[in-house]
Amino acid sequence: MHASAIATPAAIAPVSLPVSIPVRELLPWAVFGGMLLLLAIYFVGVEAGAMAVFNTMYVHEFVHDGRHLLGFPCH
Ligand SMILES: [Zn+2]
Repeated sequence: MHASAIATPAAIAPVSLPVSIPVRELLPWAVFGGMLLLLAIYFVGVEAGAMAVFNTMYVHEFVHDGRHLLGFPCH
């Protein structure tokens, strides 16, 4: 039998080391995700009437249930 065919304890239960994620690499993605969340909150909560970016009611109607669910004033 070849030596590599023998199961070693490491092969049965491999040791998994935690992956360290540096904050400097994580920060731009956290800022990007935060901006996306702020944009989503804007479209759910404010996008209507005088504050509207788009001149139609499609965005407002699309997020209307979420608007009421989150307690934003609506109608
Ligand atoms: Zn409403």
